[in-house]
Amino acid sequence: MELKQVGFSVEVYGSATELAADDAALLQKARQITAAAYAPYSNFCVGAAARLANGQVIEGTNQENASYPAGMCAERTLMSAAATRYPGIGIETMAISYDNKNGQSNRPISPCGICRQVLTEFEDRTGHPIKLILGGLNGEVYAIKTAKELLPLTFTSDDLKR
Ligand SMILES: [Zn+2]
Repeated sequence: MELKQVGFSVEVYGSATELAADDAALLQKARQITAAAYAPYSNFCVGAAARLANGQVIEGTNQENASYPAGMCAERTLMSAAATRYPGIGIETMAISYDNKNGQSNRPISPCGICRQVLTEFEDRTGHPIKLILGGLNGEVYAIKTAKELLPLTFTSDDLKR
């Protein structure tokens, strides 16, 4: 038996003002677009903003539904829009923020398990790592250099071929 260590490092910033200007601007867009979320059930409004490899910026918000599982996360809304408008173009950086109408919005949140799976395949299919900037409306901000780090031992299309 061998013990294998898996893990990753997170850059922690005291606030968005410590970020590089382009990352700070992207997080600000993610914060602003939370206003477009449709979250009447959770009151947890999520916004995502991404800068693509072609320089375009795409946004996404969570879109809930009375049939709860039919709801869609902000990250996957964004990736669907990006892949539709700019097929094959990678995402350089994605900022994710939220406005919790029932509580605090002052600490980073990270993508759910399903979004992590979709993020890693988006990285694979475009051949481009996605840097993540995670922050609430205020407070600490996390930066992670590639979405794949959030999902160690990822299930990929390669597994289907073995
Ligand atoms: Zn999700």
